[in-house]
Amino acid sequence: AHDLSKRFVGPTRLFAPKRFVTAVDRVSLTVYPGETLAIVGESGSGKSTLGRLLLRLLAASEGRVYYQGEEITDASGARLNQLRRELQIIFQDPFASLNPRMTVEEIVGEPLWLHQKMNKADRQPRVAELLSTVGLPAAWARRYPHEFSGGQRQRIGIARALASGPKLLLGDEPVSALDVSVQAQVVNLLEDLKQQLGLTMIIVAHGLAVIRHMSDRVAVMYLGQIVEMATVDEIFDAPLHPYTQALIASAPQTQPGLARETPLLQGDLPNPSNPPQGCRFHTRCPYVTEECRQREPITQVLDGGRQVSCHRWQEINRDRSVIQIAPP
Ligand code: SF4
Ligand code: MG
Repeated sequence: AHDLSKRFVGPTRLFAPKRFVTAVDRVSLTVYPGETLAIVGESGSGKSTLGRLLLRLLAASEGRVYYQGEEITDASGARLNQLRRELQIIFQDPFASLNPRMTVEEIVGEPLWLHQKMNKADRQPRVAELLSTVGLPAAWARRYPHEFSGGQRQRIGIARALASGPKLLLGDEPVSALDVSVQAQVVNLLEDLKQQLGLTMIIVAHGLAVIRHMSDRVAVMYLGQIVEMATVDEIFDAPLHPYTQALIASAPQTQPGLARETPLLQGDLPNPSNPPQGCRFHTRCPYVTEECRQREPITQVLDGGRQVSCHRWQEINRDRSVIQIAPP
């Protein structure tokens, strides 16, 4: 994706001019075949919107989207349908995303009919196969969503996403609505499926815990922009951006040394419809200077491809021990 932006019309008030919320602001990124890229940020950071722009579920206000070298920014008709098959999404809330009046067989079989015009006789064995792929008994095909637990419903959602034979799967907070005890099972399932089916994955998450073990690279978003992008080990062992450092420090079970040295996040996320001037993180950053308030940092690409957008990242990290911590 190149220079992607998405603006929504914000809440309107009578006699007031329309306000625009720039949910995604000039984001460029590449998702490589076979990798799992995590997009992490607080709610309101634009992470879900960015995911939907990449999948062409939303049209960008500005910028371009490419898929396997082909520009798909304005894809429509048959080409867009083809893309819908190959680029699939799993939603956060498995209950809200499943039609309560449809049986599991109808839910999972719907894409087979819609995209492939597969008849009922062919659909039945394929649905049974998809259910077993996600670890559910084929005999459950006649039941309805309310008969299942949250984790089972998420498996049904995954089976439906797999039905059209996707190449890329976007999980929009795929486990955050589930009990902690079930989260690991669904994470493991996604990892197994990725291996078995050779999928590329994008995982959108607000917390770091879930993505640590399932992603290759991490993009950290703040108010519509990517502030840091690096491999998962770089992000956890040596985060460079003050916002990433604060996120890691406030997450449970991360490096004790880092937690001690790093100030936690101060204050709330500013209103996305009126983001701060200069560096957007300056209202919450412990290292803020006058330059940060005035000038937006440019994204620097370092050796190995990691990226950081902060005027002072070198200074900040020179004084810290984190950058030297050897991997365990
Ligand atoms: Fe903090 Fe300044 Fe870096 Fe922004 S540019 S993250 S305010 S040090
Ligand atoms: Mg969201």
